[in-house]
Amino acid sequence: MYELVIIGAGAAGLGLGRYFQVERGWRCLLVEREAAFGQGISARNSEVIHAGLYYPAGSLKAELCVSGRERLYHYLEQRDLPYRQCGKYVLAAPEAEDQLEQLYHQARDNGAGDVALLERGAVRRIYAGLSPFAALYSPSSGILSAEAFMRQLAGEFQAGGGDLALQSTFSSMAPSGDGFEITLTDAAGETVAVPTERVINSAGLGALDVAGAAGFDYADRGYRLRLCKGSYFRVPGARGAFEHLIYPLPSDHGLGIHLRLDLLDEVRLGPDAEYLDGEEPDFIVDPQRAADFRTAVALYWPGIAAHTLEPDWAGVRPHIYRAGEYLSDFLIRDEAEAGSPGWVNMFGIDSPGLTATLAFGPWIAGLWGEGQ
Ligand SMILES: Cc1cc2nc3c(=O)[nH]c(=O)nc-3n(C[C@H](O)[C@H](O)[C@H](O)COP(=O)(O)OP(=O)(O)OC[C@H]3O[C@@H](n4cnc5c(N)ncnc54)[C@H](O)[C@@H]3O)c2cc1C
Repeated sequence: MYELVIIGAGAAGLGLGRYFQVERGWRCLLVEREAAFGQGISARNSEVIHAGLYYPAGSLKAELCVSGRERLYHYLEQRDLPYRQCGKYVLAAPEAEDQLEQLYHQARDNGAGDVALLERGAVRRIYAGLSPFAALYSPSSGILSAEAFMRQLAGEFQAGGGDLALQSTFSSMAPSGDGFEITLTDAAGETVAVPTERVINSAGLGALDVAGAAGFDYADRGYRLRLCKGSYFRVPGARGAFEHLIYPLPSDHGLGIHLRLDLLDEVRLGPDAEYLDGEEPDFIVDPQRAADFRTAVALYWPGIAAHTLEPDWAGVRPHIYRAGEYLSDFLIRDEAEAGSPGWVNMFGIDSPGLTATLAFGPWIAGLWGEGQ
């Protein structure tokens, strides 16, 4: 009998597994349908450690981004994992300076670390090639290697006695005693029933399906997953040209096409936001989109005109809609009210989910009245 089964071994599931197994001493099973952990959303994102600038005060994203960011820097530093607190500029054209100021106050309210408003042209003194926009500077933003981070989490989880079941797909649940019996199907189609006291569904793009298969009626209540693809382009000749992340102001469905660095100083642009019609993610970057990227980025980096753009990878955001309305916050539901105490569903774990990885466990422990 497990004390906790976690469905989905992306960053969220690995962070939960490590927290409950290692820090709380619970006997945990982490279930993943793929042949390796960390192959889903967590493998295809910007790898930015967000400071917590963007999210409405009081939202779960604001709370878990800020507490996750603090825990994440500490964790990466302690274990000597690759990361850089490089800082970020968010740029605003003159007509959008009011919006920039609102963002500044939002960031301060959220506790997003130090932030500073810079007057028009200040960033140009650092990067001559950028347009003379006003900017918000966030020194608490950074970048990490998601792969190295997830490998470390998985290693600590297993070294602490946690079980990781790969090629195991959650297929159904039945209430049993004080907990649940869940059914897993392996690659050969064999099924196994696993008794557990509690379950966290952190299945990323599959989370609504898992909830449906477990008997929770989100689909009947109008909840829908919409796949929102974000493509990236590489800018090969620009390596080393920037030391900071450069962002435009955010839009409704994303943070805007930004200039992103990796730990080798490669420059990438992205992601854009494109809703997919089907139910299957599509990770192919359409080279035709380069023109739109160029136009978007030229607003703040006119020098992009001298560079070629090469299609890179794409990621897919798990956007949740209800009755046609986009629910922009993380949705983490304790299903006690639905008659299933001990079952938690996590939906819409979009950005800043990677930053929030280490905050999910303590928050869910609090939800269960277990202290943090
Ligand atoms: C384009 C893009 C850019 C982003 N940029 C950033 C960023 O810069 N910073 C940041 O903080 N966040 C960012 N994010 C968000 C971040 O990547 C995600 O919030 C985070 O990776 C989500 O992790 P997860 O574990 O919930 O999902 P996943 O990594 O997808 O893990 C879910 C796992 O569940 C498994 N699964 C599904 N169904 C089943 C089943 N039935 N049985 C067993 N296993 C199952 C899947 O195979 C998968 O491995 C970005 C996201 C996108 C799409």
